Amino acid sequence: PGRQDGEVGKAQQAAAAGEKAGGQPTIFSKIIDRTIPATILYEDDKCLVFRDVAPQAPVHFLVIPKRPIPRISHVVPQDTELLGHLMVVAARMAQAEGLADGYRLVINDGKHGAQSVYHLHLHVLGGRQMGWPPG
Ligand code: C5P
Repeated sequence: PGRQDGEVGKAQQAAAAGEKAGGQPTIFSKIIDRTIPATILYEDDKCLVFRDVAPQAPVHFLVIPKRPIPRISHVVPQDTELLGHLMVVAARMAQAEGLADGYRLVINDGKHGAQSVYHLHLHVLGGRQMGWPPG
């Protein structure tokens, strides 16, 4: 009950389509289909934005495609429009979250990138001064 609305139905279809296309389901697929909870900030037919459960800054949220591309190093030219959309949504959500003094956008890839969830995601971190280089 309450999970049969159009948006959730579309999310489930998108996640299922991606998994058939070769992506492995991760915990983020469960956030997309609402089988585990998350604080969702924004959703459209292509992406979902939610607060990171272990924030590393006063503002820390993730932008994920509903189609579960495992990692940035796996993208193909056909993903160009989707990737652009994720970045535009990240920037709009950063503005909505009040990050007028700037923020950090991060994509971790693979072992050396310290990626832990193999469903592509953009981290948006802000609300404090960041250091450089990152650790
Ligand atoms: O880039 P990486 O794969 O390491 O980041 C995964 C992120 O997903 C972590 O920051 C972790 O806190 C977050 N996460 C989450 N909700 C979950 C599981 C992981 O926000 N249920």
